[in-house]
Amino acid sequence: MTRHRIDRRQLLKLLPAGAAVLAAPAVAASTDRSALKARLREARGRPVLDRSALDEPIVIDRLEMLRRDGQYFVRATCTEGATGWALCNPGRMPSAFAIFPNRIAPYLVGKDARDLDTLVDDVLLYRSSYKWQGLPYWSALARTELAILDLIGQRSGLPAHALLGGKVRDSIGVYYANGDRKHSADWVVDRLKASVAESGARAVKFKLGARLRTTAASTARDLELVPKVRDAFGDEMTIYADANSSYDVPEAIRIGRLMEEYDYGFFEEPVRFDYLEETREVADALSIPIAGGEQESSLWRFEWMIANAAVQIVQPDLIYFGGLLRSMRVAAMAREAGIDIVPHISPMGLGALYMTHFACAVGNTTDFQEYKGDPDEVPYEIAGTGERFRAKDGRLTVPDAPGFGVRFDPDYLRGLEPVPT
Ligand SMILES: [Mg+2]
Repeated sequence: MTRHRIDRRQLLKLLPAGAAVLAAPAVAASTDRSALKARLREARGRPVLDRSALDEPIVIDRLEMLRRDGQYFVRATCTEGATGWALCNPGRMPSAFAIFPNRIAPYLVGKDARDLDTLVDDVLLYRSSYKWQGLPYWSALARTELAILDLIGQRSGLPAHALLGGKVRDSIGVYYANGDRKHSADWVVDRLKASVAESGARAVKFKLGARLRTTAASTARDLELVPKVRDAFGDEMTIYADANSSYDVPEAIRIGRLMEEYDYGFFEEPVRFDYLEETREVADALSIPIAGGEQESSLWRFEWMIANAAVQIVQPDLIYFGGLLRSMRVAAMAREAGIDIVPHISPMGLGALYMTHFACAVGNTTDFQEYKGDPDEVPYEIAGTGERFRAKDGRLTVPDAPGFGVRFDPDYLRGLEPVPT
């Protein structure tokens, strides 16, 4: 991958008028960047939803958010009476649900679900909702999109991965992610070993730093963890680490070099997630791939990150970023630039299920996707199997039943009540 350590426009200004020989590569680099940006914009402008088998309109008749016991669902119903469901993250939706009845559902009701590509853009203009952008807004829209995709699947008989362009694989490998920062390095290693034994995962990830800061204790723990996790799992294990924006640039480079020494696979959010120039500085200084984007809500900033090689792996969160269609646009830009997408996903709200449909329909991803087990306390089964959606032998197999291919317990659903509007 080509990285540019020097701001070439600055260099051009400093050059004497006759320095054409030096200036020529700079002009070429600038032209290359412009050409790449044009290709990224073309790539992200392509429709994602495959409408080719959807002959009849699927008019959205009702969109409802329903809840019980702290669990939130979106139900989408079409004029023919078919329904689609999405489970929400109970850690997020209690703080975000009012956006759904006020800013999302009224716009989408009455529309043809086959127009989902344009609907997820145009809904942002409804009641000037672009002013509300951020995790609460995009999460509410993403869960609505999931319910609509499920509805389209139920009406058409197609699985969600087919609606996203078709699967390129039947299953995905997982990396087991540990989110702990409170316990010792030995404790983290023990937990990772238990998670690997239970799931069969061949890749792991753990946390570095103290989350948007460091302390003397967190730094000592980082310096212990990086070699210790490699020693514990040996050379065959793929290992990632996530700093959640903890470091400044010099410290990120120091820790990154240690990760390189122990052959880590990627370094996630080394510096503040919204310090894009600083993220690029870290990427320029290190050979380990830099991963980032889980807090990002802008396609344009993803374009900047990709065009400027600030990250080598893009990680939109499939929910915080506004859903599978918008995330597919990031994947398309990444593919154009020759890099991979490894989406971020929270486990709650069937995160692994939605991520598996996405990752099985994306060519440019790695062998390992984020996984933290099956923590939802909602009764459901993979349609027709009686089984929960869990990794086996380190892999998640994508369901082929209509929609997302799961069935929630009808008795449980009967106890749902509408959220206040
Ligand atoms: Mg992260």
